[in-house]
Amino acid sequence: MRLGVFGGSFDPVHCGHLAMACAALRELELDGILWMPAGRPPHKIGKQQASNEDRLAMLALAIDPEPAFSLSRLEFDRAGLSYTALTLTQLKEEDPERELYFLVGADSLDYLDKWYHPEIIFEKAVIAVAARRPFSEEQMEEKADDLRLRFGADIRIFPFDPVDVSSTQIREAVQAGEPLTGLVPDAVELYIRIHGLYRDTETDDEE
Ligand code: ATP
Repeated sequence: MRLGVFGGSFDPVHCGHLAMACAALRELELDGILWMPAGRPPHKIGKQQASNEDRLAMLALAIDPEPAFSLSRLEFDRAGLSYTALTLTQLKEEDPERELYFLVGADSLDYLDKWYHPEIIFEKAVIAVAARRPFSEEQMEEKADDLRLRFGADIRIFPFDPVDVSSTQIREAVQAGEPLTGLVPDAVELYIRIHGLYRDTETDDEE
């Protein structure tokens, strides 16, 4: 069993995340992908960020059409901060036979070695990397080689045509009153509108 684990803020989930997860599923022949939104302490939620429950609800709507996708509350329900090293350790303990593939975009690969206990992350999971602008293929390969050498990491860069969308761009589009067509699934756009998410234009200084 090869399980993809896709961690992120997903604030909100967008079409780049979905395209990347679909490509990973196909290219790495995964059996499924577990989407793992990072928990955020309530005092950290500012005017431009959505609550844990709203982010989870949007993810549930976005992944619903794909039966190989499922959603985990593991990082929400754990007390304290979300650490990928702890999450992967827990998933591996639950089923040691399962091969874990941790999905990241090229921007995350670039600083993965600064995360909490990177050696645990590399021990527990294969790192599956998708291209993301502005990172070139050479930059990704160079970083991957560095991590392979220093940590013995198993890093696979899978074929993916970059999709230029970010959660920041979605939040800014909502504030500017622009449509989100093609950037997030329709059901997610509707959820954002109905619940009035990301509308506040004040800057959030809590992050
Ligand atoms: P923000 O704009 O708020 O920083 P984001 O769009 O980067 O958010 P995250 O939820 O932080 O979204 O991303 C989760 C993971 O998905 C990260 O590993 C990130 O690199 C990857 N990712 C997000 N968007 C893309 C994209 N368009 N192409 C490739 N990887 C992506």
